[in-house]
Amino acid sequence: MKNYDAIVIGSGFGGSMTARQLVQAGMNVLMLERGDWVKRSPENWGLRGSLDLSPHHDLSTPLHVAAGGNKKTMGLYSCVGGPSVFYGGVSFRFREADFEKNEEIEGTNAAGWPIGYHDLEPWYTQAEQILNISGEAGTDPTEPPRSAPFPQRPAPLADISQKVKSSAEALGLHPFQLPLAINYEDKKRETCVSCTTCDTFACAISAKNDLSTLVLPQLIEQGLELLPNMVVTRLTAENGSISGVEAVSKTTGVRHFFKAKYVVLAAGALASPHLLLASGLHERNPGGSVVGRYLMRHVNAIVFGIFPGVADRESRFHKQLAILDYYFGSPDGASPLGKLGSLQQMPTPPMGLVQNEVPGPLGKLLSQGVRLLTGLLAIAEDQPQFNNSLTLDPNFKDEFGLPRPVIFHQYSKRDMAALGVLTKEAKKIMSGAGAVAHYVHQIRTFSHAVGTVRMGSDATTSALDENCQFRGVGNLFVTDGSVMPTSAAVNPSLTIAANALRVGRIIGN
Ligand SMILES: Cc1cc2nc3c(=O)[nH]c(=O)nc-3n(C[C@H](O)[C@H](O)[C@H](O)COP(=O)(O)OP(=O)(O)OC[C@H]3O[C@@H](n4cnc5c(N)ncnc54)[C@H](O)[C@@H]3O)c2cc1C
Ligand code: SF4
Repeated sequence: MKNYDAIVIGSGFGGSMTARQLVQAGMNVLMLERGDWVKRSPENWGLRGSLDLSPHHDLSTPLHVAAGGNKKTMGLYSCVGGPSVFYGGVSFRFREADFEKNEEIEGTNAAGWPIGYHDLEPWYTQAEQILNISGEAGTDPTEPPRSAPFPQRPAPLADISQKVKSSAEALGLHPFQLPLAINYEDKKRETCVSCTTCDTFACAISAKNDLSTLVLPQLIEQGLELLPNMVVTRLTAENGSISGVEAVSKTTGVRHFFKAKYVVLAAGALASPHLLLASGLHERNPGGSVVGRYLMRHVNAIVFGIFPGVADRESRFHKQLAILDYYFGSPDGASPLGKLGSLQQMPTPPMGLVQNEVPGPLGKLLSQGVRLLTGLLAIAEDQPQFNNSLTLDPNFKDEFGLPRPVIFHQYSKRDMAALGVLTKEAKKIMSGAGAVAHYVHQIRTFSHAVGTVRMGSDATTSALDENCQFRGVGNLFVTDGSVMPTSAAVNPSLTIAANALRVGRIIGN
């Protein structure tokens, strides 16, 4: 057994950004990641390239979805860099008010965040630099204060984006270009060719600024030891600290044991509570009853506009615009009052995906139809509810001997009402852009899962303190999406990255 200064579990946003701070502080760091490196070739953009169809949708720890999913069994997204390799690259900061107590969203016992926007601002700036985010400061009507401009300018708008923009402006709205983790300007690397297979696909030419492209190779050069295909199965605690980390190699089946001064758990908002509960660590925490609880995932739906002729005539990437005018409520005072959420463009779905879902001539025929579609994704903030949870079913074990995780998630009336307002407004924008009809596609995935090991000031209602230290276990920190007390209504990755940089600095000091 080798001793390390720190072991980081998971190589997604939380794990990579914490590891970056620790490596740069001169620590000897081991990263354990259950997935493999994603190979890059033209196949990344092919029929089987989309994440759910790829080998990186890992069913070796099957999650049973008791309520709230579109499938009864789902896997984890596992690869070096986590889902960042396949993500859409949308990189928003939360708004200042997202960190404040909000009874409308959290109920009368609102605990809120133990940190404020100003605590994260320098780390947001650093995360934007590391991920080389493109965007235009000063154009987002709800943008919080920033201490530096975006490191890159956005790409010019596609024709269809221009139509959506004009339609939104005619309605008195303020559309602006999405902040994106995509390389447009750095000529030392491949730059984006604006293909139509970006969100849910890995970039075949590595122009997406994902963690396995832009962060982890550099950390390995600086001394990070990264072991892929290594599934952590247990954290052992003695005398108030983690004394060992047990992991099984997926390639050899051999069980390994590791030791470190600090352990950083960043396996994602589903796998982290699973490991904590399976290791019995919630019993050592005065707020242990919240571990696995308050699961949030946003309320999402895509409003597709059906355009006569072809929606995306240029056949190019057009996830380009955001509309945040409804973020803090509906302008006409429609219910529910208070925060609603955001709208962002979604590209025409790839024909290959439809052909894969519906094989044969029917699939070919239907896949022609997707060329008539272009969409707006509505993301509404969902309420943190105790009953929405990840719990364990000890009657079933996975191939590593871990009890089966069970997910239960139901949206509240308010959640659905907020989504209803956003989809109604999205339809107006699509109609103005030339859509003759609409089709609303509800999203039931857990790709924006957060909240299951939340931080807070009250030791009985949160599992982590404001430094994301797991109460009751001195050397254990959690730095992935599970730390969030609320989900806000923009994509989570940049906030996870910024918070992990903040916590990494605290541990590294
Ligand atoms: C298709 C898709 C598109 C998305 N698009 C966007 C977007 O445009 N913008 C945005 O902000 N967000 C987006 N998201 C969400 C975003 O990817 C997640 O919020 C983010 O990756 C979560 O970061 P994390 O650090 O919490 O965990 P993750 O990034 O999920 O990382 C967890 C890591 O831990 C590993 N792991 C799990 N269990 C174990 C174990 N037992 N042992 C060892 N390793 C383990 C996993 O393999 C994974 O690599 C998208 C997600 C998906 C799936
Ligand atoms: S749109 Fe650009 S970044 Fe995205 S996959 Fe295509 S080339 Fe890569």
